[in-house]
Amino acid sequence: MQFKEFAEYFQRIESVSSRLKMIEILADMFKKIDSSEISMAVYMTQGVLAAPYEGIEFGLATKMAEDALSIATGKDKNEIESLYKKSGDLGLSAEMLMAESKLRRMRSSSYTIGMVYDSMIKISKASGKGSKEVKVRTLAEVLAASTPIECKYIIRYPLGQLRLGAGDSTILEALSVAHTGERRMKEELEHAYNICSDLGFIAEELYKFGEKGIKSIKVTLFRPIKPALAERLPTPEQIIDRLGGRCAVEQKYDGFRCQVHKSGNTVRIYSRNLEETTDMFPDIVKATKDSIEAENVIFEGEALAYNEKTSEFLPFQETIQRKRKHDVKAMSEQMPLHLMAFDIIYLNGKSYMDLPYNRRREELGRIISQNSERITLSNMVITKSAKELNKFFEESIESGLEGIVAKDLNSSYIAGARKFSWIKLKRSYRGLLSDTLDLVILGYYLGKGSRAEFKFGGLLCGVYNKKSDMFETISRIGTGFSEDNMKKLSSLLSKIRAKSKPARVSSLINPDFWVDPVYVVTVRADEITRSPMHTCCRNNSGDAEVGYALRFPRIIGTDLIREDKRAEDCTSSEEIDELFKQQKKVTTKF
Ligand code: AMP
Repeated sequence: MQFKEFAEYFQRIESVSSRLKMIEILADMFKKIDSSEISMAVYMTQGVLAAPYEGIEFGLATKMAEDALSIATGKDKNEIESLYKKSGDLGLSAEMLMAESKLRRMRSSSYTIGMVYDSMIKISKASGKGSKEVKVRTLAEVLAASTPIECKYIIRYPLGQLRLGAGDSTILEALSVAHTGERRMKEELEHAYNICSDLGFIAEELYKFGEKGIKSIKVTLFRPIKPALAERLPTPEQIIDRLGGRCAVEQKYDGFRCQVHKSGNTVRIYSRNLEETTDMFPDIVKATKDSIEAENVIFEGEALAYNEKTSEFLPFQETIQRKRKHDVKAMSEQMPLHLMAFDIIYLNGKSYMDLPYNRRREELGRIISQNSERITLSNMVITKSAKELNKFFEESIESGLEGIVAKDLNSSYIAGARKFSWIKLKRSYRGLLSDTLDLVILGYYLGKGSRAEFKFGGLLCGVYNKKSDMFETISRIGTGFSEDNMKKLSSLLSKIRAKSKPARVSSLINPDFWVDPVYVVTVRADEITRSPMHTCCRNNSGDAEVGYALRFPRIIGTDLIREDKRAEDCTSSEEIDELFKQQKKVTTKF
């Protein structure tokens, strides 16, 4: 497909305010693209160059994009910079400047999607001495040959500012519509995506081999699987009940979730949000090579700091110090991490995902060397009794842990979903809503009075409704911000302002500014209450007029923005509904 046509579709997607319309346009666009370009088109729609776990970055700073624009238009760099400062969107500046550029005649707009993508790969691959010039020149060449609308997206793409608002689920649904004319393949595509985490690859398989291709996507080494997630329930009795009267109970460790892939002597580690984090954990890599007795394996565990002298786990505040880019080696020697292994997904050519929990656990135990000092099987008991579960829970808390995760003995490994096959119980669940929530920022307010100087007065936050693929509002948060946080939020959010309410946001409230739903913050609140103001669960509460809100919400956490969570990984509407019900039970019980 000519990139010009592709860019015109982007222009339409950007301007719609309904998710359904967005799917329609995306599907129409995908239909016209052939199998040789579909993976690139999907990556571009996601705003990436490859699956995120590949870690391929553009490495192009705004200044370089300005230089390229200056070469392509013949305009002065200062003029470009001041235009950019005014609009905050270099794509818009590019569109405007290109439209009025005298060099315009020379442009024939002959680039295809593949050609633009190849140039972007060239930009990302340039490294070392002279790479800046290569990047600038390559971008300038593409810009000079493109129409103003194309330029808008060609500039935004490598700067990470495409902001089409199409989430992965929307793209999958559009692929289904493009391929079959209806949504019926969405679940199948989603399942394949949970297993391989690569949307471009899925699209290509679909185009080349149809439904058969999608069905044949298997767990593969060095392609992370979306991690299984835990639900929550407030009491041991409810947990035992829900898990059929008998379950496994494991200690819950508070550290970094690691999905470890090993093939021979090659080990790679992926985080909860599917980024490759191998470089962060040289100690875990070594421990895997030393003490995992399997040629090819994918297993999971929680890595946390451990005091060898006292045999105690250290709190998360200690473990988090390992999250750094510099001095990793020194730090890993000073504070080596211990991996508490809790699941196995693949072994020697076979997927273990469909085996029941107790079979997987057996195999996991078998591959960890008895002499290992750095990798241990998580502590576990199997019980029928709420009393025994509670005892194990109390002991875990006493030894400084967060709580327990109870697991369904018969359940397979459920990638990417919470399906009550894992249920967590943390100390904080024992009261009202004292567990934290992860909310996505949907908009923000300007400051009044003493806050005016920070250009920040509060947030509008929401949760994710997985079924409808929409973000629903749940709370305004106006208190608990330090001056530093206000400055940081104002600067971060001003860069992702949206012109109007994004298509995948459902809201009855209008903040001063809408933003693209990308940042997640951790929030504590006293209680979930019913509210006619918010859209969280408004349509599935049985009372279409009323949603849920938070009482006394405040931001917590040392890192303001949760870098380990994407917007869709925030607390879901379904979880809020469940928490509200639990809260009612707990309140009436005590
Ligand atoms: P939460 O982050 O509170 O939703 O709790 C789920 C997380 O607990 C998982 O993503 C793991 O990182 C972590 N975890 C710690 N210990 C275990 C365990 N024994 N089984 C499963 N997950 C665990």
